[in-house]
Amino acid sequence: MINRRDLFKAAGAMGAGAAMPSALFAVDAPATGGNAVVKTELKRLVLRHTWTTTMSSSTYRDTVHLQYQRDGVTGYGEGAPIVRYKESAEQAKQAIDAIIGKIAAGDPWKFDKFFAEVRRLLGDHQHAAMAAVDIAICDWLCKKLGIPLYQYFGLDPADAPVTTFSIGIDTPEITRQKTHEAEDFPVLKVKVGLKNDEETIAAVRSVTKKPLRVDANEGWIDKEEAIRKINWLEAQGVELIEQPMPAHMFEETKYVRSKVHIPIIADEACTHASLIPMLREAYDGINVKLDKSGGVMEAWRWIKFARAINMKVMLGCMVSSSCTVTAAAHLAALVDYPDLDGNLLISNDPYEGVKVQKGKLILPSAPGLGLKVLAS
Ligand code: MG
Repeated sequence: MINRRDLFKAAGAMGAGAAMPSALFAVDAPATGGNAVVKTELKRLVLRHTWTTTMSSSTYRDTVHLQYQRDGVTGYGEGAPIVRYKESAEQAKQAIDAIIGKIAAGDPWKFDKFFAEVRRLLGDHQHAAMAAVDIAICDWLCKKLGIPLYQYFGLDPADAPVTTFSIGIDTPEITRQKTHEAEDFPVLKVKVGLKNDEETIAAVRSVTKKPLRVDANEGWIDKEEAIRKINWLEAQGVELIEQPMPAHMFEETKYVRSKVHIPIIADEACTHASLIPMLREAYDGINVKLDKSGGVMEAWRWIKFARAINMKVMLGCMVSSSCTVTAAAHLAALVDYPDLDGNLLISNDPYEGVKVQKGKLILPSAPGLGLKVLAS
């Protein structure tokens, strides 16, 4: 005889977790009495350094947080709004609050149907709100099952490649200081896309010889300039380039790709699973973020979809707390390039979760996301 918990553990360990029919959960799930209690809250995350990319410059970021309480267990979720897609934390909170009764009444054990309904009710442009709901319920479900989230997907966290630490755009002096501070990370990601790109890379290279990845955040609009810069970057030990040109410059990016050697990764251009096959014509890979996909389940689907058509996968994040970053880290064993440092950029993290040692992600072993709540 195998008890229920062992059955779920065995199913997770076989990698069947994500494909497991939800009916199995429904049959064996502990009875859920009444509605959940769902609470939302905005949290202001204070940045250690003013954070500058081609898109914005700021000293803090607001994210929306969600607590899902049911049957004596609390799941924690978070969504970071993406300004590029005209999202804000306030509007994400309002979108959740507007349907909070429906979220509280939904059956978490029928999560596939439940998430589809929440997604439909939130509408097409509420990725942060969807992420907060999805992450909290994934945390809750795995706590009820008594397994860490990675085990639900049948993953071995030891398979995760090292993660990068990002260096935002700054003066050469601060860039050198940030590169020193990132000493522990074997691979760095450097933000470029402005006029001073050569100066930025030179500042990093004056401190370290380690491999670099570069994100231009749509910063170059001239395809010949993009080719010149990418080939120069390759000679500087850069191993990939993320979103060199604006998302809408698809044909130009395709042309650039035909003239360079290092992989080109789609970030701002990759906003929906349905775009992935088309993106393959201009990019070598995609950057998956829970804040773009709307949570863990959809991120898993993007990763599997991209993998099925032989694309590379980066797993990124926005500036957010250890809640979102830990949720993403549970999927890191599935990707080529984890880029999970959003929580390391802030000074008032309300949670303790995934840790990084010399670039290696160390996941907590407690059930669910494994978070420890430091402040509510
Ligand atoms: Mg990016």
